[in-house]
Amino acid sequence: MNPLLDFSGLPRFAQIKPEHVAPAIEQLLAENRALIKRFLDDKSQPTWDDFVRPMEDANERLSRAWGPVGHLNAVMNSPELREAYNTNLPRITAYYAELGQNLQLFEKFKALHSSAEFDGLSAARKKIIENELRDFRLGGAELPAAQKVRYLALQERQSELSSRFSDNLLDATNDFTLVVEQRGELGGLPEDVLQTAREAADAAGKTGWLFTLKAPSYLPVMQFADKRELRAKMYRAYATRASEFGKAEWDNTPLMDEIIALRAEEAALLGFANYGELSLAAKMAETPQQVADFMRELAQRARPFAEKDLAELREFARSSLGLAELHSWDIAYAGEKLREQRYAFSEQEVKQYFPEDAVLAGLFKLVETLYGLRIKASSAPVWHESVRFFDIRDGKNVLVGQFYFDLYARNSKRGGAWMDDVITRRRLGDKIQTPVAYLNCNFSAPVGNKPALFTHDEVQTLFHEFGHGLHHLLTEVEDLGVSGINGVEWDAVELPSQFMENFCWEWDVLQGMTRHVDSGATLPRALFDKMLAAKNFQSGLATLRQIEFALFDMLMHSSFNPGQGKSILQLLDEVRAEVAVLIPPEFNRFPQSFAHIFAGGYAAGYYSYKWAEVLSADAYSLFEEHGVLNPDIGAKFRAEILAMGGARPAMESFQAFRGRAPAIEALLRHNGLVGNTQEAI
Ligand SMILES: [Zn+2]
Repeated sequence: MNPLLDFSGLPRFAQIKPEHVAPAIEQLLAENRALIKRFLDDKSQPTWDDFVRPMEDANERLSRAWGPVGHLNAVMNSPELREAYNTNLPRITAYYAELGQNLQLFEKFKALHSSAEFDGLSAARKKIIENELRDFRLGGAELPAAQKVRYLALQERQSELSSRFSDNLLDATNDFTLVVEQRGELGGLPEDVLQTAREAADAAGKTGWLFTLKAPSYLPVMQFADKRELRAKMYRAYATRASEFGKAEWDNTPLMDEIIALRAEEAALLGFANYGELSLAAKMAETPQQVADFMRELAQRARPFAEKDLAELREFARSSLGLAELHSWDIAYAGEKLREQRYAFSEQEVKQYFPEDAVLAGLFKLVETLYGLRIKASSAPVWHESVRFFDIRDGKNVLVGQFYFDLYARNSKRGGAWMDDVITRRRLGDKIQTPVAYLNCNFSAPVGNKPALFTHDEVQTLFHEFGHGLHHLLTEVEDLGVSGINGVEWDAVELPSQFMENFCWEWDVLQGMTRHVDSGATLPRALFDKMLAAKNFQSGLATLRQIEFALFDMLMHSSFNPGQGKSILQLLDEVRAEVAVLIPPEFNRFPQSFAHIFAGGYAAGYYSYKWAEVLSADAYSLFEEHGVLNPDIGAKFRAEILAMGGARPAMESFQAFRGRAPAIEALLRHNGLVGNTQEAI
């Protein structure tokens, strides 16, 4: 039997071969399409049991067959598997696109929504049906024929423009190189950066050191290069990428105007006042105005601290670095020097206190204490010998969920850290299908007989991903469409993950998960205090920078029309005049490289970064009020947020937990943005 078609339990990784992929996917797609055809031929009133449930079953089989393929492609890549993945991905994408455009299915959902049965359905099932209707509408399903043609043309043109935007940015980024021939010009740069630059020059047949605008080359130059002219040259090239200052064919300016205009037209077609409203229709934030108000309030509160950060930096640059005027290309450099002077500590030193076993034991103990659970090593088929598998059980020893840990980097694994679902919780007759998650990271593997050692950043990454994992695993929802993270609003998904990061800054929790790899000592308080101070170093400036981008994004998509006199750059100037304390030079063309919103999925959504920080900090502050290890508050967080999945709006879940709407105070406090700025120095 094809192991991808065995849905009786966990994926059988040892048996899965690239040649299994195509036959399994073909068979499931054929079955699913046949099922949909039967639905459409059946003219009787659709019911949950005859229509939604079999559809969920069919789509679950497809995702459970495809899931391990995508997973293996990400963590155990091989040319054969990649080929199988890339060949079948378009088939899967096409199938889901078909579903989204199938108006007869839309009619079925509408009929179910207005049937007598609907009122008697559970809140979760109602939400699933409502989400379906919303997504069909946002996909243009209700438009009259002529407008639908225009809608599809808009979609097509937008994706073409977005793709050109990122191609231009990439080409412009790759086009620039700077070769330095004198070693004396490169003072301050770390050895590994020089080494890479040297190799890059060799590869290009040049003598000396070659620098580019890609992050691993550009960022260290801005941060460490003592030579100001070098920083200035690199900065100018970076800040003018894909603009009118470069090659005309790579200029993103006209593309940006057109993208914004097309988005506005799309929103109008679908009955929204602007694109910001359209973007928020399926998100937790309610209106563009609400987002803008929220950003402005944060800006106002952070501003005195940002001004203080800047004043300090100017003074330090003047007195210690001999820079009478602080330019944009000096900011990262002076900031790094000031940070070193004030909070120098070595990542290497911190790492010695975080051996893997102590960190995992600390993480598990925290979760066990908060939610009354037990986490125990278990076994399952795995894809690599270093992968481990765990059971989570409740106080009555009932299995709640399971997860894989694949923590170490290796060549066959893509970068980053992420959680993915293997199996999602749902009811099947009188049984509950328990959820299973993959947790993947890219930490250094143990060397010799020493345990793996984690940096504090890596510890936070682990907690973050574990937070996503708990959101998936501790759900109590019984229907797939809104179980775990399914159906959770896009701007609320990071709440449970960022929430977990708070514990990595909680002395009592953190200290308990440290043990010096040689001496066995716990983390010294003085070192922790330095880490904390370094975390909040220049947080005023950093906060205002994020707000500038977020407010610019939302205003551009809600109260701006490129055809009416004002340019995108002028709009950004206005936003900067309102919220920024650092004003870049006139030649800066930041929007031309703002791929998040012109070529990524963040249009009228950039605010979500700060939004999630506010929510998670505010949720955490209830723990701070009642004791961060308080199991009653833990139980409440589990019941109102983790257990609910997407079964109700995230704002309702938040308010049910916090007892009020989200407030920004906790985030300001966590970032050191409270108190008197005069004496805080
Ligand atoms: Zn995340």
